[in-house]
Amino acid sequence: MADIGLDRIRRAQIETERAGLSALLVTPSADLVYLAGYDPPPLERLTCLVVRPAHDPVLLVPELEHPRALESPVGKRIDIATWRDGEDPYGALSPLLPDEGRLGATDQMWALHLLGAQRARPHAEFVPGSTVLAKLRALKDPDELELLSRAARGADEAFRQLVESRLEGLREEEVAVLLGGLLKDAGHEEVNFTIVAAGPNGASPHHEPGGRAIRGGDPVVLDFGGRVGRYCSDISRTVSVGDPPSGFEEVYEAVRDAQETAFRAVGPGVRAAEIDRVARDVIERAGFGERFIHRTGHGIGLEAHEAPYISPDNQQPLEPGMCFSIEPGIYLEGRFGVRIEDIVAVTEIGATRLNRASRDLERVG
Ligand code: ZN
Ligand code: ZN
Ligand code: ZN
Repeated sequence: MADIGLDRIRRAQIETERAGLSALLVTPSADLVYLAGYDPPPLERLTCLVVRPAHDPVLLVPELEHPRALESPVGKRIDIATWRDGEDPYGALSPLLPDEGRLGATDQMWALHLLGAQRARPHAEFVPGSTVLAKLRALKDPDELELLSRAARGADEAFRQLVESRLEGLREEEVAVLLGGLLKDAGHEEVNFTIVAAGPNGASPHHEPGGRAIRGGDPVVLDFGGRVGRYCSDISRTVSVGDPPSGFEEVYEAVRDAQETAFRAVGPGVRAAEIDRVARDVIERAGFGERFIHRTGHGIGLEAHEAPYISPDNQQPLEPGMCFSIEPGIYLEGRFGVRIEDIVAVTEIGATRLNRASRDLERVG
């Protein structure tokens, strides 16, 4: 990816200054992958990229990981500082930090490292690094959009293959394994999650697939995703094994309509909360408002859940390049659930769906 590395670090420098921060501390996480293309394991040993306005960036690494850091996309283009086992890593970090001010720390920084950094700068104020990085990461460049599209197409293909299989008689956990294999066959290098929730289990949005055998008449919520070139897929469909129970089709249509209506509302300048609102309106009008128990969607990229969140409290205006899920659902305890989810990308004039799998109700065997 041509853009990884110094360009992104420079943009982070500009945004750090604009946000009134005196430094950004980035430990192993999607933030570090995004900025530097560097992906060491998060460990008790401190690795930290320090980005400051008007200073060259410095990557502090444990000495034993120096060769690995050098091999990374920015390894030969930024300063690398090291510390050795037995030394105090926060002592090594200290000279790289500004004396005071507000410091942004990666949201996923281990408490161990944040507390160490706070000891090194007791008078600084530490704020979430997402203050700067969420905004940068939310706007996908063409390479990122291509990877997200490939991931979405792979997830579509896995779904198409799955509905050709016979599900009746299989346990949820068996279908989950099947789905994982289909994602890999469709070009995913990693499987992040496979939710398979049959019958009443569908009423729990994050149900853990278990030993329940799928029976004729079961609606089944399928929600799964993985990674292609590090970028995530995430799709949900609800299928019916044989004829669905009474009342199911009405619920399915309400969710489908909410999904479609929300998609049509997406465009530059529209607030995230507005997308949530229009999806919720459809479901409320159908009489199920109380049973739509989560936000309408979440951003996606290097992480399966990231900014922008499509929730009632997010007044952020959408911008071209943002990618997120639209996944309304209705959950009827003791009966069934329905969720339909596509990843969409905001364009200059509206939006495009990255997932293209049919949203018609599929009846499977
Ligand atoms: Zn979820
Ligand atoms: Zn999902
Ligand atoms: Zn999702």
